[in-house]
Amino acid sequence: MSLKAFNLDSIGNVTVYKRRNNRRINLSVNAHGAVRVSIPIWMPYQTGLNFVRSKESWIIKQRPPKQVFTNAQTIGQDHELAFASSPYLEKPKITVKDGLILVKYPSHQSIIHPEVQAAALKGALKVIRSQAELKLLTRLDFIAQQTGLPYKSLKIKRLSRRWGSCDREKNIVLNLYLVQLPDELIDYVICHELTHTKVLNHGADFWTALKQISPQAAELKVRLRQYSPAIIFQ
Ligand SMILES: [Zn+2]
Repeated sequence: MSLKAFNLDSIGNVTVYKRRNNRRINLSVNAHGAVRVSIPIWMPYQTGLNFVRSKESWIIKQRPPKQVFTNAQTIGQDHELAFASSPYLEKPKITVKDGLILVKYPSHQSIIHPEVQAAALKGALKVIRSQAELKLLTRLDFIAQQTGLPYKSLKIKRLSRRWGSCDREKNIVLNLYLVQLPDELIDYVICHELTHTKVLNHGADFWTALKQISPQAAELKVRLRQYSPAIIFQ
């Protein structure tokens, strides 16, 4: 496989991959909006790039909408976001206290300045992580005990694609963004991962076992698709 990276004015970074097994052009946009196109090995890179240009409106639709932190948003279960400018600061500074995420920023910047937005993101993640560590562990322990499906360890991670995973040693990973979802969806993901302690793959046995501990699993699985792992702005 060989590849080349390009930067298109209208779309941004595009990576073109040449793959031996490709018979046609495949275009994808990942959760962060990065564009990849893979082409047959004999095709010129420029043809792949032209294909990307012709799909510009499709690509824009695939990209997650750019979300901006602003005053009075609710973060996680109960925290409020607030911005305040200060003439004495050189860099943005965050404090998290009593349900408030306060982002102070230098007067010469604005709320939408990348450094200010990055500070808000850091504060939001701190809150979501601490809520996730408490709530997801509590629910996991409760459900593991109720269903008699023990696990070995839990790690809370910030993932962009998956809600969770479970390996053959029964180490469970849950996405910190999960804590923002309705309780029944949190429980569904936990039941899903706990079922993997018995059945690793997603074959028919797996879904039968999952349904035993989560009777609404089929419906919850569909509902979960409405969400993607990211900060939910409220
Ligand atoms: Zn699974």
